[in-house]
Amino acid sequence: MSNILRKEAFVLPEGVIYLDGNSLGPIPREVPERVQQMLNAEWGEMLIRGWNKAGWMDQPSRVGNMVAGIIGAPEGSVVMGDTLSIKVFQALASAVKLNPDRRVILSDTGNFPSDLYMAEGLVGLLEQGYTLKTVAPEEVAEAIDDSVAAVMLTEVDYRTGRKHDMRAVTEMAHASGAVMVWDLAHSAGALPVDLAGSGCEFAIGCTYKYLNGGPGAPAFIYVRPDLADKVEPALSGWLGHRQPFAFDLKYKAGSGIERMRVGTPPVIQLTALEVAMELWADVDMDALRAASVALQEQFIEEIERDVPQLTLASPRDPRTRGSQVSWSFDEGYAAMQAVIDRGVIGDFRAPDIMRFGFTPMYIDAADVSAAVAVIKDVMDNRLWDQEKYKIRGKVT
Ligand SMILES: *Cc1c(COP(=O)(O)O)cnc(C)c1O
Repeated sequence: MSNILRKEAFVLPEGVIYLDGNSLGPIPREVPERVQQMLNAEWGEMLIRGWNKAGWMDQPSRVGNMVAGIIGAPEGSVVMGDTLSIKVFQALASAVKLNPDRRVILSDTGNFPSDLYMAEGLVGLLEQGYTLKTVAPEEVAEAIDDSVAAVMLTEVDYRTGRKHDMRAVTEMAHASGAVMVWDLAHSAGALPVDLAGSGCEFAIGCTYKYLNGGPGAPAFIYVRPDLADKVEPALSGWLGHRQPFAFDLKYKAGSGIERMRVGTPPVIQLTALEVAMELWADVDMDALRAASVALQEQFIEEIERDVPQLTLASPRDPRTRGSQVSWSFDEGYAAMQAVIDRGVIGDFRAPDIMRFGFTPMYIDAADVSAAVAVIKDVMDNRLWDQEKYKIRGKVT
């Protein structure tokens, strides 16, 4: 395998096997010091001069270009800001405006609830007869017809890891005259994405999962370059204005992707992300994908051999799976707590899914086998069957 594995580039607690980088990536080793430097030398010394002198104002596009590099998007087509839920709203609001004669937003029941909630909120706000239609993931193709203004899907299902065929679905959407919005929350940094090649109009995603930007790290938004000067931003904040410092009383959308900016960028968080993104400079995404698939295949094989109590809840064919493997088990919540207590960190998604993410930059084959041994011990000896593992935290 190529030089994908770089455990030394991350801070991972002793004795922990971290199979949750699909939910919150670990902190890259360089981040604390570099953020500290920024705090002292930039915020501390430059004070407000940092906006120009330290390049804070350009950071959303600068980091956007780094993200663009790993999702198959050209320079200048991606900008950072806000959280993913906000970016969903923004992309979708612009998408439906590109298709003013249609009233259906199509999504699927495998989508992350926040994406659906944001769509519901938009529909309520527009009050123009829009509806959000959700169908089973397998039925999306069939449901795309000429009533659909926009198709909004997450490429990889957060619960099962099932993966849509981006290019094929986008082609179908376009064949019916619908605008395509892809959520890459579980794709960016997990597998090769060819945004430009897919032809989709909009894409969005977060950076605290596979991109290791840290809790609350800003999201990204992509607009297809030929549309970037045409889309109408629904969240028309001052930093998306053509001349923010003209303090014009009327909004005039900025040039290109810049118009998708809203307000003041989170500079500290963007600095952490910018440092984290440096890790991707020499990563071959095809090699990363191959390494991820190898780990997942090994995990499935070993769990099915050693832990028959668990039922595979992810697609078996790696081509239709993202970078996670999920299992269903009735007492999945308690079982995951018991596994975590023994140093193997995955997570739980209601109602009964035990979810494990595979991130070949800091997980190797030995980690997979060690994790399987822990899971086997927990299941064979019913170690999960204790009150303390059944009390649910606020975040599961
Ligand atoms: C993680 C995730 C979110 C979370 O949105 P935030 O606004 O960052 O909290 C939204 N959508 C999808 C598909 C996700 O996977």
